[in-house]
Amino acid sequence: MFKSVLLLGHFRGIRIEVHASWLIIFALLMITMTAGLQREYPDWTMMEALVTSLFTALTFFASIVAHELGHSLVAIKRGVPVSAITLFIFGGIAQLNKDSENATDEFWIAVAGPIVSFVLALVFSVLSGVASQWYEPVAVGFGWLAMINMMVALFNLIPGFPLDGGRVFRAVVWKVTGDAGKGVRAAVAGGRLVAYGLFGVGLWNILVVGNFLGGIWIMLIAWFLLNMAEGHGQNFNLQNRLAGIRARDLADPHVPAVESHTSVSEWVQNQVLPAGQRAFMVASGHRMLGLVSLSDARKIHRDQWPETRVEEIMTPLETLIHIDPDTGAAELLQLMTEHNLNQIPVMENGRVTGWIDRERVLRTISLHMELKA
Ligand SMILES: [Zn+2]
Repeated sequence: MFKSVLLLGHFRGIRIEVHASWLIIFALLMITMTAGLQREYPDWTMMEALVTSLFTALTFFASIVAHELGHSLVAIKRGVPVSAITLFIFGGIAQLNKDSENATDEFWIAVAGPIVSFVLALVFSVLSGVASQWYEPVAVGFGWLAMINMMVALFNLIPGFPLDGGRVFRAVVWKVTGDAGKGVRAAVAGGRLVAYGLFGVGLWNILVVGNFLGGIWIMLIAWFLLNMAEGHGQNFNLQNRLAGIRARDLADPHVPAVESHTSVSEWVQNQVLPAGQRAFMVASGHRMLGLVSLSDARKIHRDQWPETRVEEIMTPLETLIHIDPDTGAAELLQLMTEHNLNQIPVMENGRVTGWIDRERVLRTISLHMELKA
């Protein structure tokens, strides 16, 4: 989903990574916090202010990871796989690999993050109280962490996409009405309202308060939230329309095949170029052995093409990614994107019964959607 990310590590199979934009926020946070602490506590040494800022900023960063882990671990427990947690300029995001299947799962996955932030706020405020008897910088750092985690929890409970509260709101409407679509529409509307409200606050900052930079910044966040909210809605509409379309509806029953002992050069000359097709199943008589594509051919030198048989460079059937005719279109598209596949064979009881290529899929899906609209 994001480029230019730094991998921090793995936790229970979840990739934890930082987007370059987060480093900007981290630097800004360090600078403003150190300056703020020096102003407010003039008796502190420079070192005390700096170390307190560093400790607080790093713990804040860990708090955001904990919030996202809250979503992720509940998601995994409820059968929704999570590939990564990415920290970026506006906070963190857990990349869930699919949508929840029911309102209850959706509710608990969405609410888990703010619950973690609330608990952290409580823990930090207790620690701050304890430390105040002992050493002021530690108490101040914990106090700030308690406040910021409380703000993260409350802000995220605003009932509009893409905030957690939007997903909670969606789950509640979904549960009450029994209609997933109504839940999405309510949460998108909530998201729009939040974005327009924030936009108004930005405008007010610029025109009334005279805080130009702050106003622009708020309007930028509003615009970002609005885009995310609309994106959520469109994504749901697409998923909804794809529902009911199966791999068998998208497959071409004519499976392109090449005899296993054909040389690569013959195959390219006589089949690839005339048919304008980049991949073929490799067959020995009626038995399918594997799949060969132009990218396999490109892995060996052109001089070797005449004496290399296609079966020598093919991907054998056992390791070939294939799908079942009943696989849904959404899952099929995800699989093709994830593994960067241009074509995929449809297999039933060990037999190849159909052929799907990317262009055909997109063409057929748009036809199906035109008929449904
Ligand atoms: Zn969250």
